[in-house]
Amino acid sequence: MNFSARTGTHVARRRFGQNFLTASGIVGRIVEAIAPRQGENMVEIGPGLGALTQPLIERLGHLHVIEIDRDLIARLRERFTPECLTIHEGDALEFDFGALCAEETSSLRVVGNLPYNISTPLLFHLAGFAPRLRDGHFMLQKEVVMRMVATPGTAEYGRLSVMLQYRFHMKRLFDVPPGAFRPAPKVTSSIVCMTPLPAGTYKAHDETRFACIVAAAFAQRRKTLKNALRDFFDGSALETLGFDPNLRGERLSVADFVAIANACQ
Ligand code: SAM
Repeated sequence: MNFSARTGTHVARRRFGQNFLTASGIVGRIVEAIAPRQGENMVEIGPGLGALTQPLIERLGHLHVIEIDRDLIARLRERFTPECLTIHEGDALEFDFGALCAEETSSLRVVGNLPYNISTPLLFHLAGFAPRLRDGHFMLQKEVVMRMVATPGTAEYGRLSVMLQYRFHMKRLFDVPPGAFRPAPKVTSSIVCMTPLPAGTYKAHDETRFACIVAAAFAQRRKTLKNALRDFFDGSALETLGFDPNLRGERLSVADFVAIANACQ
């Protein structure tokens, strides 16, 4: 294996996307951005060696974490008591975030320096719990964050932008250079804050159809709407809705996609 950067006595595992934060100044900036308060209900995805975990517990009193690596789980158990840390062993992609907060409340805060190899499916998984979340602060590859916050008409705007902006307000906070981690990743990272939109901001009557239309519109970026959505509409139906059928999907706002999906029988 050519990837065996040691962090203390732990050998970082590439398959778990392990790049551990070591720059204390960056840890401080992230915790300041999260602004945790005593007693808040928070879960950290992928605590790793605890760079964020420790200062979060100091502020909150208690934290939930989800970790997949058994070696790291054993270390966390040694270092923190069950009174201050609840460890959920397993895959965050399958985790029921709803189980950590009472029905119909939006109290759960989610944070994490996310494993980059699963960041997009993890964001989609989390989006399903949006009504229960208060906010999310994540470190991701900068390139992914640029797509999350992108606006219509830009090169970065695509399926990820529309599907996440349908549920969240998104803000890129600051960048983190590769040197802040061990082992150092090849790319720059960014911190993003996601806050669920008030209920009913956008309402697709059939969210599966909405997701299919967004996926079709961006499947081949150079296709016009007329061609990309031909399984759903003919060109004249789009025109009746007020959309130029020769536009490309990248020109449409989230509200436009919702209107198109809602008009589709
Ligand atoms: N939070 C630590 C830090 O900032 O130094 C570690 C971040 S590291 C980029 C990602 C962490 O997520 C690792 O601890 C890794 O083992 C964990 N991880 C990877 N895949 C996971 C999954 N599917 N579910 C839960 N944790 C996962």
